[in-house]
Amino acid sequence: MRVILWGVRGSLATPMSSAQVRDKARALLAEATPGDLASPTAIEAYLDRSVHSWTYGGNTSCVEVQLENQTCILDAGTGLRALSGVVMADGRGANPQHRIDVFFTHFHWDHICGFPFFGPIYVPERPLSVWSGRSDAEALLHNQMSGAHFPVKWDGLRSRITCTHLPEDAATEVGGAQVRILPLIHPDKAYGYRIDAGGRSVCYLTDTEVSKSPHRLAETYAAFVDGADVVIVDAMYGFLDYHDHINFGHSTIFNFIDFFREANIGELVIFHHDPLASDTAVSRLRADAERYKQLIAPQARWTLSAAREGQSWDFPPVVS
Ligand SMILES: [Zn+2]
Ligand SMILES: [Zn+2]
Repeated sequence: MRVILWGVRGSLATPMSSAQVRDKARALLAEATPGDLASPTAIEAYLDRSVHSWTYGGNTSCVEVQLENQTCILDAGTGLRALSGVVMADGRGANPQHRIDVFFTHFHWDHICGFPFFGPIYVPERPLSVWSGRSDAEALLHNQMSGAHFPVKWDGLRSRITCTHLPEDAATEVGGAQVRILPLIHPDKAYGYRIDAGGRSVCYLTDTEVSKSPHRLAETYAAFVDGADVVIVDAMYGFLDYHDHINFGHSTIFNFIDFFREANIGELVIFHHDPLASDTAVSRLRADAERYKQLIAPQARWTLSAAREGQSWDFPPVVS
């Protein structure tokens, strides 16, 4: 199993501004030594280690889970456009023998607006499976590509898209994966996912407002993620920010750290970054979360990270 993050931003795509690019350029230039700039190789090495040479990214939710002869995609935010370029270039997109399964947490704009830009939906006769905890997924995607919303219409697509309603109370076999869903706390309903394959597993729990009633949910969430290699969670707000956004449907990372204090997981990932959060703000939130973890869960074996576009994990199958 290989997991790749293509979009990590919440609510609205957030391209960097010229002022933000300039801030990074200024910091890079100010901290460079003559040796850092002495050759193309030295420059690359400097860029590799500098904290100013990258960004968490501005594309909205999209996570790829690669399995053998199968590509699973969690949400179709704007991050899907770049993933589309990769699957069309490497042959997966046009190969009808290669399974593509798209799983939707819900159908708010930031989780669907990359779908019309996904190349495989335009490949004639290509099968493509859409999965959701809702029974009306097809109607919702149809609406997005109809009327005045998009120039290409759903009814004109020549790929073979099937939409399937996932049950809440049982795992579903999807190609080589076992998929389970968890109802989340979010306006209009959303579902978290757990994908297991080859003895490895990834959990994806966005968008959800656990911070409103954490004590009621702790046990359910901890049980859902037990044994997962990576757990991606909605941690859009800092502790104080959250109190200005109650009922918006999003959480703070601190509740998840509480939930998973004793959990057997590999890595907890801060995801669905606030569009108003700069890279510095996301790094500060991650540092605060790390401090909180050291305070309340010093024995925890899992690591913590803040999601960054392009971040990836390789999990070889567990041989039993
Ligand atoms: Zn969202
Ligand atoms: Zn949402």
